[in-house]
Amino acid sequence: MSQIDQVKAATDIVKVVGDYVKLRKAGVNFVGLCPFHQEKTPSFAVHPTKQIFHCFGCGVGGDVFKFVMLMENLPFPEALRRVAEKVGVRLLEREFEATADANARERAALYKIHEAAAQFFASQLGATVEGRAARAYLADRGLTDEVVGRFRLGYAPSDGQALTRWLQAAGFEIPALEKSGLVLRDAEGRRHFDRFRRRVIFPIASESGKVVAFGGRALGEDQPKYLNSPETPIYTKSRVLYHLDRAGAAIRRLDYAILVEGYMDCIAVASAGVENVVASCGTSLTESQIRLLSRYSRRVVVNYDPDSAGVAATERSLNLLLEEGFEAKVLALPGGLDPDSFIRRQGVAAYKELLAAAPTYLDYLTERAAAEHDLSRPEGKIAAANAVMSYLVRVPNPMLRAELASRLAERLRLDDRLLREELRRAARESRSVIKPPPAPAGTQATPAERQLLRAFLESEELADEFLPVMAEEGVCEGLASEALFRRLLEARQQGEPIDVARAEEWAGAEGQKLAYASLFESGDPPDRSQVVACLQVLRLRKVEREGEKLRAALEAAQRERNAEKSAQLLRAKALLDQDKAKLKKELARPSRA
Ligand SMILES: [Zn+2]
Repeated sequence: MSQIDQVKAATDIVKVVGDYVKLRKAGVNFVGLCPFHQEKTPSFAVHPTKQIFHCFGCGVGGDVFKFVMLMENLPFPEALRRVAEKVGVRLLEREFEATADANARERAALYKIHEAAAQFFASQLGATVEGRAARAYLADRGLTDEVVGRFRLGYAPSDGQALTRWLQAAGFEIPALEKSGLVLRDAEGRRHFDRFRRRVIFPIASESGKVVAFGGRALGEDQPKYLNSPETPIYTKSRVLYHLDRAGAAIRRLDYAILVEGYMDCIAVASAGVENVVASCGTSLTESQIRLLSRYSRRVVVNYDPDSAGVAATERSLNLLLEEGFEAKVLALPGGLDPDSFIRRQGVAAYKELLAAAPTYLDYLTERAAAEHDLSRPEGKIAAANAVMSYLVRVPNPMLRAELASRLAERLRLDDRLLREELRRAARESRSVIKPPPAPAGTQATPAERQLLRAFLESEELADEFLPVMAEEGVCEGLASEALFRRLLEARQQGEPIDVARAEEWAGAEGQKLAYASLFESGDPPDRSQVVACLQVLRLRKVEREGEKLRAALEAAQRERNAEKSAQLLRAKALLDQDKAKLKKELARPSRA
């Protein structure tokens, strides 16, 4: 057991927090006044079994070390020492240093393994029949030898043990290979095999250019389509931006970055000569990635897929970028094309032209809000304004906020003087106009979402049964919990345990808030039948959301007197109404599924 684990095992977070905060028991948990923000009624809670704390007011949370770090303003090693003293565990200074040395050696070994693996994968492209087929696939996607070489693309053969054998022959030991995540062990623990099989391989480098992980795209119909390295001592997914090692200089020089979704998009843009591009591959943009980027430039053009998932990802990214004080523009390519397909079809000159003309995030959002609401009616104008205000209030600078609000009023032709005043005041005061103030941290999710989260955080069995179903059906699209459910599924698919005490690392600050809020729900964790019922609620919500969209489209079609489209939409709506009635009926009777 490491010294950290020893200290943690000997510690009760309730006692440690209790030294600073007056706690009282409430059900199985403890509550008190939050030491990190001003409050009169307690919204600070401690979970004795999960050994975590969470504030529903300001959203801060974590394990016992995080608490002491924040409370005493200490770096991690000092906080560890402080907690160890409190619980009477003697830290061996020598072992402490030895651990540090061992960590450094381990990291060095992992870098070597990844470099060797990158060379192996690259060599496979020309070496065998299937390797040449993979090369042909890349050529088909427009990638020349020069580009394949520059991005060090490679191929993982279907054999399943080729990399393992090759790395062993190169002198690497099995324990180190397992640690790298590139080599897995079968259930009986006897045979070892490659994580990546029959996949095109994209090496992922750290900021300094060392290969720290790989992304693999399935060549056939294998699932998942994209498989990533797991987190290791040298790779934290949320802290790496693909291609930043090469794009960094260009981003500084041009003072902006282009943010795309996938490896292929990134490679297509960069190899067409637009070098200042990075991708947030395999994860939605995180706060850590934004902070990393901010060291190069605070200006970003977000160029995600224009499909609905891409639009949702764009909006999530905008939220984070705005909160970190970034200047953001949005490039939505015409024809529903991602950057890769667009450049292949229209050429890089057309891409550069659109890039230069990319609207600011405010113009982009205003345009979308204007298209979704009927601006000929005052209610429509207010609804459109509110849709944009929820983003606008995240701009940290109050002067800038007020000015942006004036522009918004102008664009939406809000000519009512009082309304314009109200909009500017709301912007100054950082609140969205007619909506009530934002809900406390971690409670934006509905009860059904929180119940499901709690069920999955308490039971891996339920998680493994229901998370894939939910992803398949898309019942969480657009919900507050969407990203968190996706992370949980990713983690389970990669065989990673779900450690809630380290939620911030795998789910980001927002994800942690949601996860913790659900764990502090009262009552027993939901059982299978309750999970089924909650899932039905989400299905019904999804049908209702689709109904809303259809109704708006129908109104638009009728305004335009488009009879054919109206009839088509009416038929779709009738089908949807049937689904809705069926779901409602199922929900009404007690579930035994
Ligand atoms: Zn608080």
